Amino acid sequence: MSTEITFALTKGRILKETLRLLAEAGIEPTEDIDNSRKLVFGCSAPGVRLLVIRGLDVPTYVRHGAADIGVVGKDVLLENGGEGLYEPLDLGIARCRLMTAAPVGWTPGSSRVRVATKFTEIARRFFAERGVHADVIKLYGAMELAPMMNLADVIVDIVDTGNTMRANGLEPIDVIADISSRLVVNKAAMRGKHAAIQGIIDALTVAVARRDA
Ligand code: AMP
Repeated sequence: MSTEITFALTKGRILKETLRLLAEAGIEPTEDIDNSRKLVFGCSAPGVRLLVIRGLDVPTYVRHGAADIGVVGKDVLLENGGEGLYEPLDLGIARCRLMTAAPVGWTPGSSRVRVATKFTEIARRFFAERGVHADVIKLYGAMELAPMMNLADVIVDIVDTGNTMRANGLEPIDVIADISSRLVVNKAAMRGKHAAIQGIIDALTVAVARRDA
């Protein structure tokens, strides 16, 4: 196995903070990622290249060994499965919570509930563990609209301040999971490229601790 390391980063809202942490750990892209259409970038750390891809694709790249290490939201890992991956470090980026929410004053009528969400697997597991039969309706956005339009009784969505839910007459109810960005590592790479991967994990651990101090 070569000691080249391919590091898959999630593009979008968490990229800026990820790059700040990576820079602290001595990994800096050699060009401006924000203003480039490229998807693969060289960086200051020898033998490390960076991929910038959709968060949903990061676990797939890392699981198959197309990337050795990656940064991805815990929501993606919970929804699509983090099996076959090591998750050695919570980067503490983009902290939020995955919650159920319902219209203010709503009370469950029976053991059956209609749930609108983008996170269908997480929702199914959550309600099944509570013995509630959930009719899960997949939506791709604006989950808050579903109860108002009588498409669903409750929603499962990401909550940060709670403002979006309150603005739409909903109140958060149960916390399903605390979410933040995690470092994930391919298991074979963890063994075969141990020194290089462990070096990155250690440097990022120090960078996270320094940021949070
Ligand atoms: P808020 O109104 O502050 O509770 O933010 C809730 C909305 O912002 C959610 O519907 C999400 O779409 C989005 N959001 C907030 N924080 C995050 C995050 N860390 N990751 C992804 N989406 C988020």
